[in-house]
Amino acid sequence: MRQKFCALCDIDSNTMYRIIYRHSGDWIFVCKQCLLNVKNNNPHYKYGGTWKR
Ligand SMILES: [Zn+2]
Repeated sequence: MRQKFCALCDIDSNTMYRIIYRHSGDWIFVCKQCLLNVKNNNPHYKYGGTWKR
């Protein structure tokens, strides 16, 4: 796959971050902006790696 879209805001990006941000949530890919938004004061936040095109 050559492109990924942010699970939260739907943009495509060359660099995506694999995270969990909800209790019992699945791994999703998000852009950097959404990463910063959801990780703030989030006890469920987990980081699972970076994906680059
Ligand atoms: Zn996003």
